[in-house]
Amino acid sequence: MDFVFAPQPQASIAVSNSTSRIPVRRIFCVGRNYAAHAREMGMNDRDPPFFFTKPADAVVDAGSTIPYPPETADLSHEVELVAIIGTGGRNIPVQTALDHVWGYAIGNDFTRRDLQARLRDASRPWDWGKAFDHSAMVGPAWPVAEVGHPQRGFIRLSVNGALRQDGNLDEMIWNVPEVISIISRSMALLPGDLIMSGTPAGIGPVQSGDVLVHSIEGLGEVTVTIGPPAPGNA
Ligand code: MN
Repeated sequence: MDFVFAPQPQASIAVSNSTSRIPVRRIFCVGRNYAAHAREMGMNDRDPPFFFTKPADAVVDAGSTIPYPPETADLSHEVELVAIIGTGGRNIPVQTALDHVWGYAIGNDFTRRDLQARLRDASRPWDWGKAFDHSAMVGPAWPVAEVGHPQRGFIRLSVNGALRQDGNLDEMIWNVPEVISIISRSMALLPGDLIMSGTPAGIGPVQSGDVLVHSIEGLGEVTVTIGPPAPGNA
């Protein structure tokens, strides 16, 4: 291929106990997938799932310092279980959906909550609230061979040592195989697609200098620090 200019590097996430990385294709996110979080956002907890996406190059590794993003005064955390698609498909039945999963990771669906709320209230797309630079902390990835398919167990996030989110994976309204099946009826899933499966209750703002510790039972814990705004975004 003779490109006019050099393509950007392939977006990727780390793999536990390995120097190999997983190339990221798309990032699908499930909205309001824990009943208590749906209620804290003022929504009904029985609605069918809906989705939004983030660009692949929004991913950042665990252990990173993330610059406080521009255009917000309310950067919010959302700890999430991330399912990593290893085998693609369309119209995947729920019964075989987990066969398409390579593994799992801890994620954070960082959100410019004030922007998201303004966009939502104006019936406009959420992208500017959700799909900004560095908005998807993911990793490291754990293969199914090592961790199985986490379906119950704690999912937690603390900020500067204070517990903010403390849910259980079994509180998901739509579980991972259901979500895979539903997405695949709408568009093809392919290897390297990530599915951020929603966040439990307890979302809230973070500030520059905050240290976020995320943990999911069976997947260990990962830390992210919120840094100052990037140069030019002050
Ligand atoms: Mn989310």
